[in-house]
Amino acid sequence: MFRDFKRHYHKVTEAYSGLAGKGSFSLQINFDGNNLYAESKIPDEEATVRFVVLMRRFLNPSDSLYHKKTWATLQGQFADEVSNEITTHVEALFERLSKGHFGVNINGEDLTAERIYQVLSEGEYFDNKDEARRYLQGLVDMPVIGPLFWYQFYEYTLAGFALASTIFDLVSRVEQSAKYKALHGERSVAESRCIYCLTTTGSFMSEEHIFPESLGNDELVLPKGHVCDRCNNEVLSGLDEALINFGPVAFLRVQFVPYTKEGKLPKANFQNLSMRRTGPRNITIIAKDKTARIKDKKHLGDNWYSFRIDTRGRKFNPVLLGRALYKIALGTVALSQGRELACSSKYDAAREFIRTGQGVTNNLLMRMVSRPHPQVHIAYQDTLEGTPFVIDIYGLMFLLNLENAPELEFNEILTQSDFQLFSLRVTA
Ligand SMILES: [Zn+2]
Repeated sequence: MFRDFKRHYHKVTEAYSGLAGKGSFSLQINFDGNNLYAESKIPDEEATVRFVVLMRRFLNPSDSLYHKKTWATLQGQFADEVSNEITTHVEALFERLSKGHFGVNINGEDLTAERIYQVLSEGEYFDNKDEARRYLQGLVDMPVIGPLFWYQFYEYTLAGFALASTIFDLVSRVEQSAKYKALHGERSVAESRCIYCLTTTGSFMSEEHIFPESLGNDELVLPKGHVCDRCNNEVLSGLDEALINFGPVAFLRVQFVPYTKEGKLPKANFQNLSMRRTGPRNITIIAKDKTARIKDKKHLGDNWYSFRIDTRGRKFNPVLLGRALYKIALGTVALSQGRELACSSKYDAAREFIRTGQGVTNNLLMRMVSRPHPQVHIAYQDTLEGTPFVIDIYGLMFLLNLENAPELEFNEILTQSDFQLFSLRVTA
């Protein structure tokens, strides 16, 4: 149950060690006899952004990994493991986190470190929310207040990391308890069977992300025992890679994924340009030649612009993309309806196709126009004839049938909705 917390904590720890030797967070205040000047300094910018982005999950009240939620679970469900002494210690850390090292009072209002962190997060660093932005307007431009605010923002993030370490130690202790083991202990691996190659004898040490973790998936995960390590490490990771590198996905990933599987800021490389995320609200695009120049730039008012960029990538391989999508589809069947069904013979052709690229005689439909959004949706129907899927990755829409019959064909609606059909049948 603390799986997501622990996985994320490891990413944050790596980002934190990435800050080592790259300077420190500091606030310098100088007084020249008449005026005060202040400057907030941070270590290496890229390393700092990475750390702050990852820490956000622990510090954002609406995130499932928000510190207070994890702490509430520990207190609520494992009270026996949480002594009074620990409670006092953790509550003191929360108190220190919220207040910060020093108080700031502006126009009679006491501003805690927590308030400053949240308002800067919502109004500037992570988002552009009206209320927070209006509140900040003017304030952050003041000679001392601005740097002071930013210093509190970074200090709050660092204090949040100290708290995360304490919670991590506590989680590790709780996991050793008899109560935890009774509730969430490892199931016997004797019942392992790979949904992709049907082996029951291989090694089954890893869980499997239904769609790539690098696309931001932390939730749709098949537990150990569903996918053998050989499939996982050989075929499946290659297919995940192919999906991530598929031009449109690579492009949208930089826009919508806050951090990658390794906890780094995402980037994409095309023949004529490269792009990378340089902050929660910044993307840097570097043209490699003239074809990547910004075209049709229009001012939409209020500092918003629209423009067009043409990217050139590798040659499109529908079979490879199809295999990556079939992999997601079969994993989804196993997750929602169980391994038995996923292993049934009606998916044998899909299995062969995922592993070897052969066996499927059906078609893949892809919508050639997309309206980008930050989510992934997977929906399917288990019908008597066929298992049709709709897979929507950041607005890129695909239709497929996990079985060979019936064959997906065009109809008028699909044509009008800009779908194109690609055969997955391999011709010799
Ligand atoms: Zn396997």
